Amino acid sequence: GAKASGRNCARLFDPNDPHSNDESENIAALLKIAVDQDLVSLVYQPIRNVASGRVDAVEALMRLRMLDGTSVPPSLFIPIAERTGAILDLGRWAIRTVCRELLADEHVPVVSVNVSPIQLKSPGFAASVAAILGETGVAGGRLALEITEGLEMEMHSDILRCISDLKTLGVRIWLDDFGTGFAGLSWLRLIDFDTVKIDRSFLHDCDTPRGKAMLQDIIGLVRNRGHMILVEGVETEEQLALMRQFRIDQVQGFHVGRPAPAQTFRLPAAPNIRPAARAKPR
Ligand code: C2E
Ligand code: MG
Ligand code: MG
Ligand code: MG
Repeated sequence: GAKASGRNCARLFDPNDPHSNDESENIAALLKIAVDQDLVSLVYQPIRNVASGRVDAVEALMRLRMLDGTSVPPSLFIPIAERTGAILDLGRWAIRTVCRELLADEHVPVVSVNVSPIQLKSPGFAASVAAILGETGVAGGRLALEITEGLEMEMHSDILRCISDLKTLGVRIWLDDFGTGFAGLSWLRLIDFDTVKIDRSFLHDCDTPRGKAMLQDIIGLVRNRGHMILVEGVETEEQLALMRQFRIDQVQGFHVGRPAPAQTFRLPAAPNIRPAARAKPR
């Protein structure tokens, strides 16, 4: 239970413990107790529909707090959670939390949650999503799961079966960080993604002719396959204008809004959700 594992964790943080220097071991221990001890939370980042100007989805992003209050970035703790298997419990917790704390509000249309391939490979994942949707009464179509093309992505038949089970539930399947690796093209060939999120690295040099042409090529590739296109990491008005010009479906980034806690997005009786946190104009 929480108490026993809490003791366990305190021991690992003991400065006299030879393992306490090992940051990743500490994080691994923390991850085991994180849900019980309320050390994980979710923040939500708005996704704007370019044509309507409305926020029509939000992405849930996980946050981990250490016992001393400092936070650990996902780039550090997610790989550890994947390695130790803690991602299975954390992932279920995230989906349940999204359904309870955000999708219970009818005014939030769609929430996307990042899932690791380890979750998709684990037996019973689709069934656990079905159970969460059932217990919270949330329609499957309001939940999107983001799969990153980043990691080693051998085409596991279990993953494909899981994705097809999730699609049967109405759950949307998005491809995250597209364009960062070689696996993305294989994924596109095998899975009918509802939305493809183009990685923010493509915006870095989109003010040069070369960078702009590159972005245009990748957009063409995704569009010709019939997927909705979302560009991540939009930080400036200039970039947003370019996205309008390219007829991108949705944008996400600091220019639209920064990740913020759930209460920011729960606006009763609003015709659409508006992020409170907006980037300052430059
Ligand atoms: P991601 O899914 O691609 O999420 C977008 C990341 O880019 C977030 O970082 C977000 O805060 C950041 N971001 C958004 N807009 C901008 C922008 O305009 N400029 C810049 N520079 N950054 C922007 P975060 O929250 O640190 O998450 C990093 C990654 O960790 C995520 O990338 C995702 O792959 C992973 N992650 C986060 N939460 C979860 C989770 O619950 N489960 C799993 N499996 N992975 C997660
Ligand atoms: Mg994502
Ligand atoms: Mg992404
Ligand atoms: Mg990314």
